[in-house]
Amino acid sequence: MPPSLSRRAFLKAGLATAAATTALPAATRAVTPPRTVDPKAELCTVLDISKCVACHECVERCRQINGQPILDLGESALLGPQAPDRPAKFPRPKKPFPTMHPTSRVRVQDWSIRKRRAITSRLTPYNWLYVDTLDVPAFEVDGDERDEINIPRRCMHCQDPPCVKMCPFGAAEQKTNGIVRIDPAVCMGGNKCKLDCPWHVPQRQTGVGLYRHLLPNFAGNGVMYKCDRCYDRVAEGILPGCIEACEYGVQTIGPRREMVALAHRLARGFAHKSKPPHQGFRDFIYGELENGGTNTIYVSPAPLRHLMAAAEKQNQKRLRRLLARLPKHKHPNPPLPDGPAKIGAILGRPHLRRVGHKMARANNLTWALLVAPLVGAAAAVFGFLASGRKTGRDQGGRHG
Ligand code: SF4
Ligand code: SF4
Ligand code: SF4
Repeated sequence: MPPSLSRRAFLKAGLATAAATTALPAATRAVTPPRTVDPKAELCTVLDISKCVACHECVERCRQINGQPILDLGESALLGPQAPDRPAKFPRPKKPFPTMHPTSRVRVQDWSIRKRRAITSRLTPYNWLYVDTLDVPAFEVDGDERDEINIPRRCMHCQDPPCVKMCPFGAAEQKTNGIVRIDPAVCMGGNKCKLDCPWHVPQRQTGVGLYRHLLPNFAGNGVMYKCDRCYDRVAEGILPGCIEACEYGVQTIGPRREMVALAHRLARGFAHKSKPPHQGFRDFIYGELENGGTNTIYVSPAPLRHLMAAAEKQNQKRLRRLLARLPKHKHPNPPLPDGPAKIGAILGRPHLRRVGHKMARANNLTWALLVAPLVGAAAAVFGFLASGRKTGRDQGGRHG
């Protein structure tokens, strides 16, 4: 049993395996993910989290293919990825780090020490996917029972990504197949993408990247890292590692239109089965409409508001534990951040709140800036014509 697999998850895993090998109605049978993906289509993933048993195989695979196996944290593991033909993507910072001036301006963020590299319970530059386990009211029975729901979290791959639009260096890019990635060769580690991301996903590692060669003491502070949806594998038609690794068929990847239809079907089924049955299915879906639409759609067997409440309670507990560990002489009264988004940003554990279209206003502003000269020119022409007509009328009136 993997170290992170709880007894309950283990039982669930056993049941899920048994179910997969038994004749089941079509609606509950595991969806076999496609073995390959169309690299050109706008790709979206649907995560049916009712199937996730928190075995962490996906997390392990992500770390392997990006440069660091979980279970082997020896130095040799850092020297290269599992696949010899692909470069490791996880950071390899050079130490000592350049001293920033003024020193208080940018905090060093170092996840490269052995103990921190091993962390799998949050997003870090060395961990682009984690699995959260949430304690929610039982969703298929009446009464006081509770259920556990496991939810893998990573970048949402937004359709209108603020991290791309707001990056001052153009380091973040959105590919035509919907994948959003940050180019480590261009990123200066300025943190703008993290601040603007509604879920504060990108994570910074100091001491790596372009800034070390430009103005190492004055500008930038490393590189921002996050899930790139295995863009290089996908370009070759190969499934992202985490999808390939999951034996329970939690994730399905495909063209967005098909994935949205699949998510709606699944959510309607969960809404119908829940106690009491729900009229609408929207409370069982997350990601389809968030931030103007993302290419990561979660479908939950329990109403999302229960997951959101459980995630926030858990994050508050984690934050209190974290603050309690701070040295009292340095932080006698540490300020408590307010709001689940800020707490999630500190903990590297994205929230589950509904998110409006963050770039809509900025897009409108950009549009307004682009069309402003044309509108101004048109107004001037109309104004000129109108004044000409008026002058004509006035002159006509005087003459009449
Ligand atoms: S998504 Fe799949 S591989 Fe990942 S933890 Fe859940 S069941 Fe395991
Ligand atoms: S979730 Fe955040 S990091 Fe990911 S694409 Fe959206 S804005 Fe960018
Ligand atoms: S898509 Fe690739 S990079 Fe992203 S979480 Fe999965 S394995 Fe990791």
